[in-house]
This record gives sequence, structure tokens and C-alpha cells, in this order.
Amino acid sequence: MHKYFIKTPWIAKKIFPFYVWSVPAEDNAVYLTFDDGPHPTITPWVLDLLKEFDAKATFFCIGKNVEKYPDVYQKIISEGHATGNHTYHHLNGWKTDDQNYVDDVLKAAQFIKSNLFRPPYGRIKARQAKKIVDALPTNNGKIIMWDVLSADFDSSFSPQQCLKHVLDNTVGGSIIVFHDSEKAFKNLSYVLPETLKSLKREGFCFKRLDEAL
Ligand SMILES: [Zn+2]
Repeated sequence: MHKYFIKTPWIAKKIFPFYVWSVPAEDNAVYLTFDDGPHPTITPWVLDLLKEFDAKATFFCIGKNVEKYPDVYQKIISEGHATGNHTYHHLNGWKTDDQNYVDDVLKAAQFIKSNLFRPPYGRIKARQAKKIVDALPTNNGKIIMWDVLSADFDSSFSPQQCLKHVLDNTVGGSIIVFHDSEKAFKNLSYVLPETLKSLKREGFCFKRLDEAL
């Protein structure tokens, strides 16, 4: 048994309407998102592939990785993608005191200028979320969850299974999660090119989240 859903159940969306789970008005666009970078070799690999497919995406970066690899972060921006805040230390909100959590997000915000925020593991308390929405730039923070998990980070899945997670569950407006991280690369290196090929063939285009919200 896995401790997460590949496709976010409708009930979660109903209980937490305050979070962004998908972009319902869109019928031919999907939103690829990449968590946990930037990484010095994997992120540029992702960027080259996105360019090949004329795809735009959103990268939820960890503040300490941005501090470590500022050139890779700049490359994400200069190639026309959106970035979002994913805390400075990749904290689990359920296990972190509210003030420490918000401070960590604000520390990451020194390096990541974005009003998009994705909580690591999707785990955040409502109180923390409210504080972050107010604290992010323009006081208009958005808490971005997802609609479809590739589960690329989970080595108990084969690359083919991860691809099936994506293709079986994606609809227009889906927000799909991948990881530009070492742990996920065994799966990502297969799933990402195949996803781009298949979804493009089905008539989808790939947009940045901040264009839709
Ligand atoms: Zn993460």
C-alpha cells in the first residue's frame, strides 16, 4: 500500500477548496510541475526536453537548492518557465511549528520571487496556509496542490507504471507532479519524454501555472 493517491480524490478537493488542485476551465492545457530542484544536471536535462516540445512548466524549488545553484535557477526563468516556493528546507508542515514553517517559507522567498507555494509532501495545516497566503509577494499567495502524481520519486514503481499513472489520470486542466531530483531520475528519464510525446499527440499543450491563476 502506498500512502498517497495517484489521482487526487474529489472529496479532498471539496474539503479544501481554498487550495488549487487543477485548472477546471481548461480543456486542452495541462500543467507540468517539477518539485525539489534546482539540480545541477537533472534540471537542465528537463529544460532541454521541455524546449524540444515547446512546453512551459512550473518549478517548485527548494530555497537551499536555489541558493546553491543560482545559475540553474536563472536558466529556468530565462527559458520562460514559472517558479514557485517549496520551503527552504523541504519541511513537513504537519510536523513543524507554525512560526518555524512560515519563517522557512519566507527564507526561501528571499531567493524565489513567486506567489505560488507548494507544501512539501502536500502536508500543511490550514493555519500555516493562511499565513503563507498573506506573507507571499503581492499578498496574493496561492497554495498549489495537484491533480495527478506520477509518483516518479517512488522506486517501488517501474518507469512504465509511472507513465500509466500520468496517462490514465490526466484530463484538461490537470496539474501533474514530477521531481527534478536524483531519487526520481530513474523514473523521470523515461516518464517525462513519453508524457510529452503522448499528451502532445492527444492535442494537449503545456502551460505555466501562473498564466492560469
Ligand atoms: Zn518536495
